[in-house]
Amino acid sequence: RQNERESLFIILNFAKTFYQETLTRTEEGQSIGLSYFRERGFTNPTIEAFDLGYSVDQWSALLDEAQRKGYNTALLEKAGLVLAKEGGKVYDRFRGRVIFPIHNVAGRVIAFGARILKTDKSQPKYINSPETEVYHKSQVLYGIYQAKQTIRQEDVCYLTEGYTDVLSLYQAGIKNVVASSGTSLTIEQIRLISRFTQNVTILYDGDAAGIKAALRGLDMVLEEGLNVSVANFPDGDDPDSYVRKVGAEAFRDHLRRNTLDFITFKTDTLLRDAGDNPFKRAEVIAEVVGSIVRIPDPIKRQVFFRTTSQQLQVDEQTLISEGN
Ligand code: ATP
Ligand code: MN
Ligand code: MN
Ligand code: MN
Repeated sequence: RQNERESLFIILNFAKTFYQETLTRTEEGQSIGLSYFRERGFTNPTIEAFDLGYSVDQWSALLDEAQRKGYNTALLEKAGLVLAKEGGKVYDRFRGRVIFPIHNVAGRVIAFGARILKTDKSQPKYINSPETEVYHKSQVLYGIYQAKQTIRQEDVCYLTEGYTDVLSLYQAGIKNVVASSGTSLTIEQIRLISRFTQNVTILYDGDAAGIKAALRGLDMVLEEGLNVSVANFPDGDDPDSYVRKVGAEAFRDHLRRNTLDFITFKTDTLLRDAGDNPFKRAEVIAEVVGSIVRIPDPIKRQVFFRTTSQQLQVDEQTLISEGN
């Protein structure tokens, strides 16, 4: 079993190198893949730090090269790199896409994300490796290997939704950033962060889905005993588009001004929807209490009950009994 894991790491590393070389050394890679990354503003150091690559638009480019090098086809399939059609014909999973290798915390490639170049409705924008013996997507955070040292130094982890959010912030000099990559945040992912810091700031997309995911995510982070804040972005922007729009300096400034503790974020967000309706406003209070009671540490819980009582002008004892 240990042997099989090791073989998977080796073949995944071969694939990573193959996609990288396709990006930088082939005509199609340069004219399509590299120009795509350039259009998105990614520079060579970023492309190299994240081992980005490209898969040509052919059925078996990776498979052919793997077979030339003597790799076992069954192992390629176990690694999620190829698929077998009915009748046994095998073909590459990733074709005509830019490639985002996913590293584990130790820096080994365990899976890939892959994006089509032009979004149209006929294909999913991103596809990912399937679950394998070395890739359990609920336990992985994209960018953790590149971010972990800075997360420790800065004592905070920025949590984003997507691959390109991580890349753009890294390139803007904000290196303590990871992404949950499309899956909703899991307890295992929060525990992974907690190896490096107790402080999480959620930077999700500035749309309804992002706000909803942030509300859900903050409760999970609280439940694991970590501290959590949230920074908002204008509707229609995500951290990647926003940092490209305003630049690194203004982005940092935006974070300084717009990072809210979880209570303020939650009350602001929910009160906006409640309007003047007193019943809805009362529900907001109950909702906020619902988050505070998740905090395992009684002293922190006490502090947040006090803050909330002041912010919402509700008697502290009433809040506490609401939470019981
Ligand atoms: P881009 O800027 O390249 O369009 P994004 O990261 O902003 O990508 P979102 O639509 O915000 O894309 O999705 C966030 C993340 O969710 C993506 O980075 C990707 O990991 C994942 N994701 C998005 N669409 C899909 C999909 N169709 N299938 C699987 N995962 C997806
Ligand atoms: Mn989104
Ligand atoms: Mn985006
Ligand atoms: Mn996005």
